[in-house]
Amino acid sequence: MNPIASGPAVRAGIRDMEPYLLEARVARDKLDQNESPLDWPRDLKEQVLLRLLELPWNRYPDFELCRLRSALAAAYGLEAENVLAGNGSNELLLTALLTLAPGADVIVPSPSFALYEKMATIVGGRVVRVPLDPASGRIPVGEMAARARESRGALIVVCSPNNPTGGVLAQGELERLLESGATVLLDRAYGDFVPDVFPPLHPRLVVLSSFSKSYALAGLRIGWLAAAAPLCRELRKVRLPYSVNVVSEEIALAAIRSPGLRHRAVALVSAERGRVRSRLEEIGVEVFPSGANFLCFRTGGAGRLFARLRDRDVLVRDVGSYPRLEGCLRVSIGTQEENDRFLAAMGEVLA
Ligand code: PMP
Repeated sequence: MNPIASGPAVRAGIRDMEPYLLEARVARDKLDQNESPLDWPRDLKEQVLLRLLELPWNRYPDFELCRLRSALAAAYGLEAENVLAGNGSNELLLTALLTLAPGADVIVPSPSFALYEKMATIVGGRVVRVPLDPASGRIPVGEMAARARESRGALIVVCSPNNPTGGVLAQGELERLLESGATVLLDRAYGDFVPDVFPPLHPRLVVLSSFSKSYALAGLRIGWLAAAAPLCRELRKVRLPYSVNVVSEEIALAAIRSPGLRHRAVALVSAERGRVRSRLEEIGVEVFPSGANFLCFRTGGAGRLFARLRDRDVLVRDVGSYPRLEGCLRVSIGTQEENDRFLAAMGEVLA
């Protein structure tokens, strides 16, 4: 056969996928991506920029990212051999999935973060969806563990608080997932907003964390994972070299030295999340339990509501196409002023 006529060498599983698209949208009140509304103070940015002037840009970053891994280990009571850093936690999610045997079961709650299913499919895993009831806020731990027990070499991916619904794992539920015999990947991208307790390491546990949310560094692309040393060694074999550049490493180090940044964001979210929830409930909207920096809520006609909010320069996320989220929107918790404008727009639109 003529190799040119047969087209590019793309696997059927990938050809069948829908691309994950996120339309670039601008709005005065950008409450669609669960970002922190609080950018870093200018004086802190300037201090870091001065340090960056002294770094050689012609040299590769430290291959092992020793300073960053040691600083993370010290901050979380770990050893550097338990820590890997990456270009956002998304990269480390892919790293973990790449260690799976071909055709292994990847057990995910549904709905959850869409990237889990996409990446699992790309690496040739078999996605097993376990339905989640958004209104209860519960993660279907019992059923996920049961599915894992039926399978060999399964990976359970669980996000607490769960994106896009907001529910959190209850005490003891991570242990129940591990008791199933599966490897468990816990994504705590929003964990600081609960606040959760950083779990003790286990030979089959990978914990993903992100600097994008509570540390307000989504634009810098830094995430990290923690795992027991033998598992971390395997993950290190798969990781791309030099995926964290010198600028991001230096800024992540500054973030670890400045926990006040995180405390400020967590305090704002804790206070505002309760206020926004109460006000939405007053105007007759069903709001799901959330430990995250966002709220997911159900209204009639979410598509129209989304557009009418956008007309008022308030951008939220229409999650109505996710399973069991028909008619639902997700809104990030912003500054008090942003939240006030969102609530005022909701009041007008639903009046
Ligand atoms: N996990 C979840 C559940 C997320 O919602 C997101 C971002 N939307 C990420 C991970 C990605 O984090 P990062 O920016 O560190 O790649």
